[in-house]
Amino acid sequence: MAFLEIRSLCKSFESYPVLKDIDLSIEKGEFVVFVGPSGCGKSTLLRMITGLETPTSGTIAIEDEVINDVDPARRGTAMVFQSYALYPHMTVFQNISFGLRMSRKPKALIRERVEKAAAILRLDKLLDRKPAQLSGGQKQRVAIGRAIVREPRVFLFDEPLSNLDAELRVQMRAELLELHERLGTTMIYVTHDQVEAMTLADKMVVMSGGRIQQYGRPLDLYDDPDNRFVAGFVGSPK
Ligand code: ADP
Ligand code: MG
Repeated sequence: MAFLEIRSLCKSFESYPVLKDIDLSIEKGEFVVFVGPSGCGKSTLLRMITGLETPTSGTIAIEDEVINDVDPARRGTAMVFQSYALYPHMTVFQNISFGLRMSRKPKALIRERVEKAAAILRLDKLLDRKPAQLSGGQKQRVAIGRAIVREPRVFLFDEPLSNLDAELRVQMRAELLELHERLGTTMIYVTHDQVEAMTLADKMVVMSGGRIQQYGRPLDLYDDPDNRFVAGFVGSPK
């Protein structure tokens, strides 16, 4: 089995099917980017991997263990959302360390992990600030820091850059690639920005209508799209 293996995964809300028979294998350390129109089920898929939603049928396995019924806190996944959802009354240090403090990790370990994450994200001089004193990019880095300190085996990003302006988005893309290179952790990333997807992805998943249309390396999708929808989405002339 691959590092992360999704088999015959279906999800319906009430009786309305949102994800239909998803099969996908993700290798350890890959940067996998999901693209597709709004409403096609990208967030729902991420939410099932991290345990915020339960599959209707099918399985999700990480490192040969089916995680469908595993407590979200013990899956080794960490999700970064579009809205940073920082606690306004807490400092950067307190925001980044929140999850570790809740799970009562030792103080020395918390400090060590926060300082390491802050150095990677260039937040080391901002640890005493409150969110209101940060720029949009810095806030998003704090949200990423909160995920890093948990040392997950999989990062899940749900359109993390959508709230940032164009220039900052380009800069943050480079930072995310640097982060991936540095940590080597498997990343699953959702965006509706084709350029962002082509820039970041080792592998790209094009979705529509709750199904995977094609999965592969961005250039292979561009050179040899399986259908018109994929061609349109990756901007291929075919
Ligand atoms: P995407 O992230 O690709 O835009 P979502 O996964 O958010 O798509 O949503 C897919 C579909 O599922 C949409 O039609 C959405 O309205 C529906 N949906 C998502 N979450 C719920 C929910 N908790 N209850 C009912 N319908 C939902
Ligand atoms: Mg979404």
